Amino acid sequence: MIDLFNEIKRVLTMREVAQKYGFEIDRKGWIVCPLHNDHKPSLKLYPNDRGWYCFACGIGGSVIDFVSHVFKLSAIEAAKKLNDDFSLGLYNEHSTSLQRQWSGHERLMQQRNLEKQEQKRFEAEMRLFALIDEENYLKEIYSSLPEHEKGYALGWLEDLNYQILSMEV
Ligand SMILES: [Zn+2]
Repeated sequence: MIDLFNEIKRVLTMREVAQKYGFEIDRKGWIVCPLHNDHKPSLKLYPNDRGWYCFACGIGGSVIDFVSHVFKLSAIEAAKKLNDDFSLGLYNEHSTSLQRQWSGHERLMQQRNLEKQEQKRFEAEMRLFALIDEENYLKEIYSSLPEHEKGYALGWLEDLNYQILSMEV
């Protein structure tokens, strides 16, 4: 049901829904509130068209909440009504089983992404260990290096250090 709710909220704007059920919307997005004895519009449709709020009733919500309040329906009944009235085809036995398959598919993809991230993190850690090893090795042998190689080793160390620091960030 969460999928159905989210999908309805995604595809339907408050404006469409209010108009569908015969509400007149003024230029600033207000309508006369059907939930109390309203004379001048006190119910605001949000500019993003996804929600509403009545300043007299102190209630608001999504398109589904709107239909549920106006027609005195439960949330799921309101969602089904919107689905039917707008012919969205989001709710019937066939599509719910498709939706279930789809969300199963999405879960699988998420799982795979997690595994990929895990793999990347593991590889990065291995690279980091290799760099640190190299750094330790250089430090160990540094004192025993001939003078003319010390400058070279220092540059190498600096480079390793830089790589390690940039990896740890
Ligand atoms: Zn109201």
